[in-house]
Amino acid sequence: MVLANRITTMQESVTLASGARAKALKDEGRDILNLTLGQPDFQTPQLIKEKAIEAIANDQVSFYTPASGLPELKDAIATYMKTFYGYEVTRDQILAATGAKFVLYAYFMTVLNPGDEVIIPTPYWVSYADQVKLAEGTPVFVETSEETRFKATVSQLEAARTEKTKVFLLNSPSNPTGMVYTNEELLAIGDWALEHDILILSDDIYGRLVYNDNTFVPISSLSEALRQQTMVVNGVAKTYSMTGWRVGFAVGDPELIAGMSKMLSQTTSNLTTVAQYAAIEALAGDQTAAEEMRRAFEERLNTIYPLLAAVPGFEVIKPEGAFYLFPNVKKAMEMKGFEDVTDFTNDILEKAGVALVTGAGFGMPYSLRMSYATDLETLKAAISRLQDYMAS
Ligand code: PMP
Ligand code: GLU
Repeated sequence: MVLANRITTMQESVTLASGARAKALKDEGRDILNLTLGQPDFQTPQLIKEKAIEAIANDQVSFYTPASGLPELKDAIATYMKTFYGYEVTRDQILAATGAKFVLYAYFMTVLNPGDEVIIPTPYWVSYADQVKLAEGTPVFVETSEETRFKATVSQLEAARTEKTKVFLLNSPSNPTGMVYTNEELLAIGDWALEHDILILSDDIYGRLVYNDNTFVPISSLSEALRQQTMVVNGVAKTYSMTGWRVGFAVGDPELIAGMSKMLSQTTSNLTTVAQYAAIEALAGDQTAAEEMRRAFEERLNTIYPLLAAVPGFEVIKPEGAFYLFPNVKKAMEMKGFEDVTDFTNDILEKAGVALVTGAGFGMPYSLRMSYATDLETLKAAISRLQDYMAS
């Protein structure tokens, strides 16, 4: 069988692959602590589930909806934007689709012509580059390091800019580093983007998950000009523990939204109708459960950060948001005789029974990612195993 080049050259999602592998080993009866996926361990809050059940009972979910989502869902998204972004949007600026992941893909398919460049700071979430390539665009990576707390600076962006630069991709709080850009940093980047007419794609999926006095400032909220230049991508997966419901949304320029909606009309038709009703409750309903989950992540972070930082050879900056720790393990690799971080991650899985994600998938050859979207007991046990592994 000869598969299409676009598939043979594509990298499988390393997060999903590591998650599946850890689960398969666990199902075989192996003692594995699974810290791979960025997936909250809580059940979806009760009020949200009840809204979905009610929608089924009321015969509201049997049929297609408009490709870009129910008008009521768009209104809930507008309410969400007013509450958490502080500005008003209208239905023609909004669409909802099958997870933020597909929203991103619809965006790239809508804005990129062959060869158009998207600037992506490294480390980056695993799916960006392959999605850009699928849409025949070219990812251009800007390497960041601990020195700038893994944030891209305007001078780096300027060095990466060419005539073909069309989009700058911002992900704050970041997966995998958990870093959050400050107001000043965003204003500087925003000025640069406006000056050179570069579109901003702002993946805000972790915007509600910030901890310990850190605040998330959406770049789109900083000025009217930036609002017009930015496509906001967000979703319910992380904030409301709804990864399985697959609801993402975009807010931005009506012309772009119409283009993306056309793409949806020819691909998914619409996001699952029952999930749209659940999302209405999540986005516009009571936010108590979301805040409780945020607090739980904060407590986990504050408990395990010092423990992980004390593992020999692991160097890690304390994250400000999201739910990942992204230690630099160069020294740990040297201590254990590894040159390749994926081999090292596999060895930890084999010998210590701790499943992590290799930094290679995020463009970082000396890091690995630990998700703390799981219970404290598991997290503490995993770090204790890492301690023993490094000591052995
Ligand atoms: N962006 C980032 C940075 C993510 O980590 C994820 C992970 N799920 C997504 C987008 C996609 O989210 P969704 O589950 O809504 O597709
Ligand atoms: N975004 C999550 C992660 O990074 C879920 C898996 C995925 O979509 O990549 O683990």
